[in-house]
Amino acid sequence: MPLDKTKAPFTLPKLPYAEDALAPVISARTISVHYGKHHAAYVKTLNELVAGTPYEALSLDDIVVRAAGDKDAAAKKIFNNAAQAWNHEFYWHSMTPKVGAPTGKVKEALEKSFGDLAGFKKAFAQAAGGHFGSGWAWLVKGKDGALRIETTANADTPIARGGTPLLVADVWEHAYYLDYQNRRADHLAAWLDKLVNWRFAEKNLA
Ligand code: MN
Repeated sequence: MPLDKTKAPFTLPKLPYAEDALAPVISARTISVHYGKHHAAYVKTLNELVAGTPYEALSLDDIVVRAAGDKDAAAKKIFNNAAQAWNHEFYWHSMTPKVGAPTGKVKEALEKSFGDLAGFKKAFAQAAGGHFGSGWAWLVKGKDGALRIETTANADTPIARGGTPLLVADVWEHAYYLDYQNRRADHLAAWLDKLVNWRFAEKNLA
């Protein structure tokens, strides 16, 4: 995503598609709660927490990085809500109702790191499926330019450590429970086959 230098009070970013556009993999009911309640709450809470603090002068990206390095309890709350606001916006863009296939540089990079698209899907499903508890599964570009998969717990995000994410899957239960209940692996398989926004990954790689 291009760096967004907007400062607080933040507004809930627009969804890049209609709430029913990702069905049946992700139902309109799930999006309505996930975007309209969870994501909205992270943005609202963040605005309340940064009001009157030095964080008020920073962009969302900068709040995530600064709060990650600050260990007091108030900064931890700010980090959790800022990172969740950032991660969710990135997540909505990581999906598209018009799934294609990776092309160009992202295709080359996937082949170099995972052999082929099937190899990537297998590795991603394994990492995301095996992540214990709430969190996120990321495709990231390492400092050496190679692609790798990383999972983070709760609100944690690679951008806190200067990482370059290309895609993310939300593995909190709220992302799939209404549609798949405990079947996280089935949700991830469908997500990988039907929803991945490869154009977005390509833009983030560039
Ligand atoms: Mn979520």
